[in-house]
Amino acid sequence: MRIDVVSIFPEYLAPLELSLIGKARQDGLLELNVHDLRDFTTDRHRTVDDTPYGGGAGMVMKPEPWAQALAAVAAATPDSAEAGPAAAGSGPAKPVLIVPSPAGERFTQAAAQELAGEDRLVFACGRYEGIDERVMEWAAEHFTVRPMSLGDYVLNGGEVAVLAMVEAIGRLLPGVVGNPESLVEESHSDGLLEYPVYTKPSSWRDRDVPAVLLSGNHGKIAQWRRHEQYRRTAERRPDLLEEFDAAKLPRADRTAFADLGYDVVDGHLSRRADAGGDSA
Ligand code: SAM
Repeated sequence: MRIDVVSIFPEYLAPLELSLIGKARQDGLLELNVHDLRDFTTDRHRTVDDTPYGGGAGMVMKPEPWAQALAAVAAATPDSAEAGPAAAGSGPAKPVLIVPSPAGERFTQAAAQELAGEDRLVFACGRYEGIDERVMEWAAEHFTVRPMSLGDYVLNGGEVAVLAMVEAIGRLLPGVVGNPESLVEESHSDGLLEYPVYTKPSSWRDRDVPAVLLSGNHGKIAQWRRHEQYRRTAERRPDLLEEFDAAKLPRADRTAFADLGYDVVDGHLSRRADAGGDSA
């Protein structure tokens, strides 16, 4: 996969040289290029922002530096290197342009999985009040444009969002995480939160590891972990259970959900009206 990031603070992306993502880059599993938006300005002050039409607080990122930067990045795609940026929009494989924004679709594990299947991702880091909206319309000719939000809160710029998104996507690329099985049982991979984990010593400060984990009974351990996933998800993120496919749950798992106050109705979990507590 090739990733390009455009930002007015390229140094903000330096952590992507560390740890597993840094190693993936060294190993040639991931090519990552960071571009300074100001290199695509033409004035002496390298200006990237201006006042908003219609008035109001803050500044807005000017469209032309973005068009210049994105055209240069698009031209560098393997498919369009000779024909120039205009051709980047032809054919089926437009690069995906992710525009971090609190007003975007939610970036989820499912989105990370989908984006990990792309050959080419470009990230446009906004600052100030964001990027002139016409850039998204123009960019749609060359890219598949996806405004994406890290969560329902406002950051100062897109860089922190890009750090999170690149890490979430990058670790799903083949070979990046040493043991691919560790990706399968993680929180959100199956629509639930992960079960609690423990390591040695088995007894620590008067707290014991749950006995089942020391039993060597793999069937019982798997069942305990599943039920802990249900308990934790019901307690912390009951919203996730609304989407959970409960149609094929074995009887013991239906009983575990019943104990948490949920019945299976038409293949979905339904919280019983008489269930106590806030969520479980
Ligand atoms: N005025 C914008 C709004 O209310 O939607 C917020 C602009 S914010 C101060 C500046 C930049 O930070 C945005 O353009 C975006 O790149 C980034 N940003 C802020 N919150 C974000 C979030 N939750 N997810 C992704 N990017 C975010």
